[in-house]
Amino acid sequence: MALTGELFIASKRVKRDGEGFRAVAAATGAEIEPSFSVATAEDVEAACAAAEAAFPIYSNLPREERAKFLEAIADEIEALGDALVERAMQESGLPQARLTGERGRTAGQLRLFAKELRLGEYLRVRVDHAIPDRQPAPKPDLRLRMVPLGPVTVFGASNFPLAFSVAGGDTAAALAAGCPVIVKGHSAHPGTSELVAGAITRAAEKTGMPAGVFSLINGAGNSVGSALVTDPRVKAVGFTGSRGGGTALMKLAQNRPVPIPVYAEMSSINPVFLMPGALASRAEALGKAFVASVTMGAGQFCTNPGLVLALEGPDLDRFVTSASEAMCGAPSQVMLTPGIHKAYTSGVARWASAPALKLLAEGQEPQGPTSGRAALFTMTGADFIADPSHAEEVFGAASLLVRCASMDELLKVVALLEGQLTATLHLEDSDVELAARLLPVLERLAGRILANGWPTGVEVTDAMVHGGPFPATSDGRSTSVGTLAIDRFLRPVSYQDLPEALLPAELREAGAGIPRRVDGKPTL
Ligand code: NAP
Repeated sequence: MALTGELFIASKRVKRDGEGFRAVAAATGAEIEPSFSVATAEDVEAACAAAEAAFPIYSNLPREERAKFLEAIADEIEALGDALVERAMQESGLPQARLTGERGRTAGQLRLFAKELRLGEYLRVRVDHAIPDRQPAPKPDLRLRMVPLGPVTVFGASNFPLAFSVAGGDTAAALAAGCPVIVKGHSAHPGTSELVAGAITRAAEKTGMPAGVFSLINGAGNSVGSALVTDPRVKAVGFTGSRGGGTALMKLAQNRPVPIPVYAEMSSINPVFLMPGALASRAEALGKAFVASVTMGAGQFCTNPGLVLALEGPDLDRFVTSASEAMCGAPSQVMLTPGIHKAYTSGVARWASAPALKLLAEGQEPQGPTSGRAALFTMTGADFIADPSHAEEVFGAASLLVRCASMDELLKVVALLEGQLTATLHLEDSDVELAARLLPVLERLAGRILANGWPTGVEVTDAMVHGGPFPATSDGRSTSVGTLAIDRFLRPVSYQDLPEALLPAELREAGAGIPRRVDGKPTL
């Protein structure tokens, strides 16, 4: 499937003659063909106008039609076959098995949201019947449902070229909610983006969607992204990337004449707590499993365990020996982009030059210009409390072990941490009392709390939360993975005393076969 380097604006492929840009092969840094068009201000305008025109049509389609559209996107992505995985491998440097899995997850997410649409529970329908003879005043008839916000801009993420990019989780959630989507493609994988955009466009045509339901525009530098976030027709933003980028977009959105929500996933070091009982019973196994989690995918996961906390003692020494051995054997891995590699190596150099930190072990020598070398550092709890700045995310396969003298010291360290996507406890029955002290603290800290596992696997299910207090995300009240992600692109509307003929089907007396709360009672 030949790539053309075109933009996708409301189902039409658009080529721009000006200076384009090329993807860079992650492994070598060499440019790859073809040249990709950079969107002009007119292209941003056209995509926003088309999304706005599509909104009243798309948002009012029966849920079944939107479900079929999402399923058709999943089918079209799968039909791209090996070409998609091969291009994504070239552009991201991620291995075939990981990208094949990611393609499955991308299709799975789309199909999960199709199911969510059919269930209809997300509409949160509530019916409170009128009581005309209530004293001292009659009670009105009130009916509530969730409605979509309007056109949404999604920034493709560099570290998930499929599952969090053009047809990724944010796009699936917004389309399911009834919002047209304009994707700002990530400049690290424009070819992958073009292939997926083609799949979405074909699915939209086959299922009869309005043209402006989807657009993909590219543009390195910040102008295209900024123009999209400040366009008055855009009503929400989904973003995964750097803390600097996310907070810049939050400010732009907040300073608009009409501010809009930005759901930005930015920075998290995902603390792992090794409780004394767990260390006593399986320190060596924990050391090996920890290194496998830190080094997976060159550490380029938002849920990478970048911080480990434990109490001093011989069992912790056994963990350190095992983890250090495993770390020394960890092969270096190609990182996603030269920029991400540079940020990683300077983060590791920053840790290496900090007097309070000690390097415990390094992975194998780098093999190429963008190859990242894993690293494990340590420091004491007292030093961390004196200078918590080392808790800043180093995006890649590096982690910091904080050795605490007591549980009180450990709790002081935790109190200094910023918001996190995850917090992990490794524990045995004998640790439950200590863990119970930690749990309320962790609930305030993170969006997901795990026991005896590793945070790097993120299931896409109803009960998943992939979010957390700032700076893990810009808004800890939401998730970007799992069906609850649809909530970010919805708002409630209450209909008071409207005649039946004007009410949406879900709110009429007969209902629409979806769960509702009627006069305070859950019902079908
Ligand atoms: P990024 O630099 O934040 O860029 C992400 C996207 O946002 C790109 O499309 C970029 O546009 C756009 N953007 C960034 N700042 C902007 C601004 N001020 N105005 C408008 N648009 C803006 O992230 P990245 O390139 O993926 O990676 C850089 C660093 O982000 C990594 O080293 C890592 O620290 C962090 N990161 C974190 C996660 C996570 O899940 N926590 C995931 C990926 C990356 P351009 O294409 O024009 O640059």
